[in-house]
Amino acid sequence: MLFKNVLVNEDIKKKLVTSVREDRISHAQLFLGQPGNHSFALALAYSRYICCENKGEWDSCGICPSCHKFDKLEHPDLHLIFPNSNTKEITKDSDSEQLSQQFTKFILQNNYHISIEDWLVELGGENKQAAINIRDCANIIYHNNNHAYEGGYKIFILWMAERLRHDAAPKLLKTLEEPENKTLFILIAENSDKILATILSRTQLIKIPQIKQELIATQLEKEFHAPLNICNDIAAISEGNYIQAIRYYNEQEELEKQLARFNLLFTQIMQHAGNDTTKNFLELKNMFDELIKEGREPQKNFLMYVSITIRKLLMLNTNNEALLKATEREKQLLEKFKNIITLKNISGILEECNTAIFHIERNGNSSLIFADFFLKLVSKIQGTK
Ligand SMILES: [Zn+2]
Repeated sequence: MLFKNVLVNEDIKKKLVTSVREDRISHAQLFLGQPGNHSFALALAYSRYICCENKGEWDSCGICPSCHKFDKLEHPDLHLIFPNSNTKEITKDSDSEQLSQQFTKFILQNNYHISIEDWLVELGGENKQAAINIRDCANIIYHNNNHAYEGGYKIFILWMAERLRHDAAPKLLKTLEEPENKTLFILIAENSDKILATILSRTQLIKIPQIKQELIATQLEKEFHAPLNICNDIAAISEGNYIQAIRYYNEQEELEKQLARFNLLFTQIMQHAGNDTTKNFLELKNMFDELIKEGREPQKNFLMYVSITIRKLLMLNTNNEALLKATEREKQLLEKFKNIITLKNISGILEECNTAIFHIERNGNSSLIFADFFLKLVSKIQGTK
């Protein structure tokens, strides 16, 4: 990772580069920022620059032996410490060193856009308790007390430092306060409230802002070769979280499908509520049949989409438009049904969504559930017209 590819404001990069060039790197730093920003990539670009054998004015050379090792995240003086737990392969006493290959592969596969949720899945799905543990701290202290393999800096990156176990953290305090010469600790966290005050007080805080909307759009365009209007649309609802933007990008087709289904369902509901039962009911029936064929998960997803969209409709209807996160296509749809959801009928409608989900989860007859859902919604909307 080079600075030029990090999605962080230039002034933060400049500050870090300058600290290296002026030889005043502070030995323990905390990069704090919201999920989906590029803190982790920034920490790697910074580490790489420190170790680069032929530094440019503002970035690493990219071609020296040290840079090549950083390409593969295999530099012997770069120590990555991250939340871990036992896995299928490592059944006892896990630590970051044992899982380092899996973690490195995960970083490279995700192009340095990593999230704790995705990492937990990678660890085996149900490892909600993954933590930086006592063994990790012992390893840090061991490496801190030994010479750097390549004679330069030893760098420890602690990703998701809020997951440093509180019983392990005290072991690190002395090391953080008085590290060996040429040692750098970079702690990366999303939530400083969960970090012990004694750790916080020993680190220099660097706040990493959310990624700017324009930067998200251009990065999506670059990475996925997608049309700029789509990228702009996704960037607008991603709230500075690039990982979320990638998810939205991958789910576009799904979103289009949900939009079309919602449109059909609510067009029919409006017509029935207005006692016009002649139009296109067959089309709605076909839509339900298709959805039912897809299985119970997609049926649930659609109902959840309906309930989220209904909440958005209410926001629009109660002049909370500024809080509304929606793509341009969604906004068009919302505008069309704007007036049907009110404070009076919303709770009843949301209840119907939940009831339908409840019955689908319990293997009820989906055809009956959707027919019932439709009629209930007609009557709720009719009752408040
Ligand atoms: Zn280099």
